[in-house]
Amino acid sequence: MSENNTESSVGKNFITTIIDKDNETGKYEGRVATRFPPEPNGYLHIGHAKSICLNFGLAKDYKGTCNLRFDDTNPVKEDVEYVDSIMADVRWLGFDWDDRLHYSSDYFGKLYEYAVQLIKAGKAYVDSLSAEEIREHRGTLKEPGKNSPYRDRSIEENLDLFERMKNGEFEDGEHVLRAKIDMASPNVIMRDPTLYRIRKAHHHRTGDAWCIYPMYDYTHCISDSLERITHSICTLEFENNRELYDWVLETLGAYRPQQIEFARLNMTYTVMSKRRLIQLVEDGYVSGWDDPRMPTISGMRRRGYSPASIRNFCERIGVAKAANMVDFALLEFSVRDDLNRTSPRFMGVVDPIKLVIENYPEGQVEEFECQNNPEDPEAGSRMVPFSRTLYIERDDFMEDAPKKYFRLSVGREVRLRAAYYVTCTGVVKNDAGEIVELRCTYDPETRGGWSNDGRKVKGTIHWVSVDHAVEAEVRLYDHLFTKENPMDNKDGSEFKDHINPDSLEVRPRCYVEPALGKVEPGFRCQFERIGYFCADPDSTPEKPVFNRTATLRDTWKKIENNQKK
Ligand code: ATP
Ligand code: MG
Repeated sequence: MSENNTESSVGKNFITTIIDKDNETGKYEGRVATRFPPEPNGYLHIGHAKSICLNFGLAKDYKGTCNLRFDDTNPVKEDVEYVDSIMADVRWLGFDWDDRLHYSSDYFGKLYEYAVQLIKAGKAYVDSLSAEEIREHRGTLKEPGKNSPYRDRSIEENLDLFERMKNGEFEDGEHVLRAKIDMASPNVIMRDPTLYRIRKAHHHRTGDAWCIYPMYDYTHCISDSLERITHSICTLEFENNRELYDWVLETLGAYRPQQIEFARLNMTYTVMSKRRLIQLVEDGYVSGWDDPRMPTISGMRRRGYSPASIRNFCERIGVAKAANMVDFALLEFSVRDDLNRTSPRFMGVVDPIKLVIENYPEGQVEEFECQNNPEDPEAGSRMVPFSRTLYIERDDFMEDAPKKYFRLSVGREVRLRAAYYVTCTGVVKNDAGEIVELRCTYDPETRGGWSNDGRKVKGTIHWVSVDHAVEAEVRLYDHLFTKENPMDNKDGSEFKDHINPDSLEVRPRCYVEPALGKVEPGFRCQFERIGYFCADPDSTPEKPVFNRTATLRDTWKKIENNQKK
């Protein structure tokens, strides 16, 4: 398979303009070194995919490097389960960090030494105010903050207290280490930000070696610097943090990468932050992080999205400075675009009703040759068994059909894909008056689905032979939320109020071609006329389970055209 052949580049955008300029002036000697820095506190989502494609893509385009770095400074929320899933997801997307795997926790020793250096330079102090008091002293956007009464502790006292913090002599929250910058700074982040806090918690990698943990802003810039990153790309909400990023590295006299912010990906009918996704998992709204309705990479993989389709989507949406909301339909468009080219076709009936061919010999079986993929001549063909009793789709029959209905109705003729023309002769109803079976006759002269007398039919429907079909469970998905932007809380609602109660529909008794009875989980295909499907890990040897990846119909072109108007 060529699905992991990542030819796609990130194209030209405002970030490549910056890099091109840096390369011209020799700012980083023409080097390009990026990193993808997830915090292992949840599974990756499609927003992270955008960041992964960007960082690894830039490294590829500029023949540079991209590191994978776990930003693991919060022991309370992090876990190896997340570390493992993140590595699996990045690889699955088609990217490789070679030997450049890093953890911020590997730098805990160095970060401590740098903090001591800051204290010695009079640029950091131990504060003994409570978290609440620190908040009160911080001021507001309009008013300056107030200095802490502990701000002018001597360097000796600070060094002593900081060491004792490290040695575990104090309880959580008793002291923090703060940068000594400016409590009146118009940028609130610069008002003596906290660098270290006491957290007597077990860390998934460093165990109980540390009871003080460095804060994100302090850790991130130093980690970038130690790894000699050139362009440190992050999302827009860190714009105000850039001043602190630069301050820490300048004050330490350390190598300084360039922080560049871009707009995070937001998508309609979903939520993107790990903090919210974890609630969906923990509160049981979904079956897990890899529920096919989740915007997580593992969810999309289980649903049947290909890595190439996600990379193409990221390329299509591009990289911009301004925040925006991307239509979910564009993601589905990218998925269909790829799956249409790569998916083998099969026949599967998701809402079955029996069709009996009255004049077809009882016990006779024929095999018909079906193209595996009309989009791919190399894909070849397969033989599909045909017999007297078939399943067809319930909505391929209509009792009182309008003139333009080209499928089955009593007296009308259709083509059974690759088999014969059949004409409906009647229906069988149960006591409640519901149609339980359809009857028809076939024309033996139309073998293969073509008539020699030039007679044409407008409709072609799919079928499976009852005696040969495999029973399968099919799971149909819709958006997880009914509201376009579930995060919009102007009406006083919260995102969970907008969960779509009909986002999952299970069809326990569907029938598919015998060939689909023994496919591996992860196998992707198209059920002709119905949609793209992917075999689920819940499949058993007795009963395959298929997730509908996407319907065949594309809404994106329509949306795009409407937007142009
Ligand atoms: P979340 O709010 O979902 O927890 P995060 O930013 O806290 O996201 P991190 O693990 O810190 O998650 O993110 C790793 C990288 O992915 C960061 O560089 C971050 O900027 C980027 N990233 C996260 N969410 C998005 C998004 N929606 N669009 C683009 N990039 C994102
Ligand atoms: Mg984060």
